[in-house]
Amino acid sequence: MGPQRYGEKMSDEETLDVIVVGAGLAGLACAWHAAKAGLSTAVLERGDVAGGKNLSGGRLYLEPVQSLCGELLLDAPFERPVVSESIVLLGADDGLSIRSDTTRQEDRPHSVTVLRAKLDQHLADRVGELGAMVLPQQRVEALLREGDRIVGVKVGSEELRARLVVVADGVLSFLAEEAGLRANRPVVNYGLGVKEIIQLDAQSIEQRFNLAAGQGASRLFIGDLTEGLPGGGFIYTNRDSLSLGLVMPLEALAASNTETQISDLVERFKQRPEVAPLIAGGKTIEYGAHLVPEGGFAALPSLGVPGLLLAGDAAGLVINSGITLRGMDLALASGALAGQVAAAALPADLSAEEILSRYQQAIKDSFVWQQMKAFRKAPRLLANERIYGRYPQRVAQWTQDLFRVQANGQGTSLRKASKRLRREVLGWRGLRDLWRLSRM
Ligand SMILES: Cc1cc2nc3c(=O)[nH]c(=O)nc-3n(C[C@H](O)[C@H](O)[C@H](O)COP(=O)(O)OP(=O)(O)OC[C@H]3O[C@@H](n4cnc5c(N)ncnc54)[C@H](O)[C@@H]3O)c2cc1C
Repeated sequence: MGPQRYGEKMSDEETLDVIVVGAGLAGLACAWHAAKAGLSTAVLERGDVAGGKNLSGGRLYLEPVQSLCGELLLDAPFERPVVSESIVLLGADDGLSIRSDTTRQEDRPHSVTVLRAKLDQHLADRVGELGAMVLPQQRVEALLREGDRIVGVKVGSEELRARLVVVADGVLSFLAEEAGLRANRPVVNYGLGVKEIIQLDAQSIEQRFNLAAGQGASRLFIGDLTEGLPGGGFIYTNRDSLSLGLVMPLEALAASNTETQISDLVERFKQRPEVAPLIAGGKTIEYGAHLVPEGGFAALPSLGVPGLLLAGDAAGLVINSGITLRGMDLALASGALAGQVAAAALPADLSAEEILSRYQQAIKDSFVWQQMKAFRKAPRLLANERIYGRYPQRVAQWTQDLFRVQANGQGTSLRKASKRLRREVLGWRGLRDLWRLSRM
């Protein structure tokens, strides 16, 4: 097979080694490992191009995927390495920013900002160079079964057969449902993310975020921007654009009594004094909304059935720790593990049951499972509305008071301020919430 072949058709009779559904990060990482091992591999993507329909806040944590995907990501079109971190607590009138910068020189950045349209397309090219077919405009509509085994997929009127099907079709994975791996989709397991890409020249980005040329920043926001509901906002710096967005649990949005839509919240977020100067003069060139699987460890489905493996968002592999939202590294890693299992198992003619069990074991032995498990309490703890309403409001106001000298000449001593923080600002409930969060 030659390089990436867009739009090419396969013959009905051909049985491939691996069919991957979805040219997102999970699917492409899988295809890369499978094709590298010489397996005949096709990636079927419903979009016009790889990454065309994919949406991410845009921060990729590289270290966890270095051993599995380091080679695949070599020369990837990353935007900027993140060297500046901020968390901003927003009250109605006050804001408190906690910012941390580093000048530490590292051989490799530990995290980078990415634009999925560029990154996925680049990875699809790399996968194509290894001989896999990456076929856009191919929506998989159903699975092919023989007995209790999956033996291929249906695309339109065509039936495509493979020894292994890897389903990496993203958060709503209808194929996982068809395979019986997800009976229903409780709303509590999903967040809704909206994101804009705002074009801005590199020099303005670097001045506004206080960055040296080529460096990047992450800003996370919680508090008043979500009207006290769970969720938060983000801004990441790209080369010559900003990624700005909001992620909120669907359940909180559905239960909220306000008529406010998430798009209105984004508009108000952009008008906040902490945000408006950063984006001033920028032009929104892209806007998108996407679901995020936020059910965590407790909501993980079984990872496949004989003949089919699930990877990435399709398997619910996302961690929202409150400070980091991670789905891309988990998608890359789970996809890569599926590809590696296929690479070892198919030439050895292992049974479909054995392949599934090897994949499940590989995931369990990896950081993917261990981290999902480590953050298993996060969905429950982060549903606490006090984190998004009362605390940011009170702490931001308390910080303003800390710096105030009153008309009677009285300033605030640190002793008084810390007493007030404990007794009035947080209160016993706050201290208990803090203790619980610290044990997450
Ligand atoms: C607003 C927002 C912000 C986020 N921020 C971050 C972040 O900063 N860092 C981070 O690590 N993660 C973040 N995430 C999560 C991250 O984007 C996902 O976890 C990740 O993209 C999952 O990759 P994937 O390959 O599993 O799925 P996807 O990237 O969704 O890819 C699935 C692919 O399958 C294709 N497909 C679907 N159905 C079919 C079909 N029937 N036939 C053929 N093709 C099909 C789709 O078109 C798509 O190309 C964010 C998510 C959102 C929504």
